Amino acid sequence: MPTVDFLAIHVLAFVLCALLVGLLIGSFLNVVVYRLPIMMQRDWREQAREILQLQAEPEAETFNLVLPNSQCPHCGHEIRPWENIPLFSYLFLRGKCSSCKAPISLRYPAVELACGVLSAYVAWHFGFTWQAGGMLLLTWGLLAMSLIDLDHKLLPDSLVLPLLWLGLIVNSFGLITDLETALWGAIAGYLSLWSVYWLFKLVTGKEGMGHGDFKLLAMLGAWGGWQVLPLTILLSSLVGAVLGTIMLRMRNAETSTPIPFGPYLAIAGWIALLWGEQITARYLQIAGF
Ligand SMILES: [Zn+2]
Repeated sequence: MPTVDFLAIHVLAFVLCALLVGLLIGSFLNVVVYRLPIMMQRDWREQAREILQLQAEPEAETFNLVLPNSQCPHCGHEIRPWENIPLFSYLFLRGKCSSCKAPISLRYPAVELACGVLSAYVAWHFGFTWQAGGMLLLTWGLLAMSLIDLDHKLLPDSLVLPLLWLGLIVNSFGLITDLETALWGAIAGYLSLWSVYWLFKLVTGKEGMGHGDFKLLAMLGAWGGWQVLPLTILLSSLVGAVLGTIMLRMRNAETSTPIPFGPYLAIAGWIALLWGEQITARYLQIAGF
């Protein structure tokens, strides 16, 4: 009888769990990405009316991440639980609303699948450890932020700032790096893009990036320490150049259309956190150091 490697089974079970949980979280992230910006806009409108001393808008229906239940945007058909199973419902419904047959955006299952696969990979990379738990939270946060930034050119503070604090907290336990490295990572991350922003603004008179980008890089520094910053900035320009070219080709858009920087920072930071040391070591090896 072949010997059973219990550790391998253990890891496999963990990876499979992460895949399933990732699919479910991906489904929830679709809701967050769609609803959070609407919630923010409602909030801003209300604040503006208050400042301008305008009459308050008539009480709108409750709208948060939980209520009301999801509906088909075309016919208002309320999505039933069995129509809300990640990936499978899309396949089962053949990408159409069960009531009005309007097509469901391919993005929903794509986000679910991406979230599942990324979560499974994080589980496999770190094994059954606290690091895996922390990195899963970070991965989900980065995915949500990237999509919201892509849609609205907006990096919500309500996502970035809690994750920045969480990075410092987990590193106070030495999860990924030590607290001092993490603290300087957050400071240097913020200040580096802040300086670029002001330099660009003083020279050209234009705003090259949003304040959300400083906070996002600070957040990545808080998780990975200052060491991940140079590689993150380098990789984000690289990812930006490659993906930017592809997107421009696909959309046939004009080159003046601004493309948000957040998703590139998120992808680059994620890569730097997972493989930063290997990439730097290989680079130094090739460069002959
Ligand atoms: Zn419908």
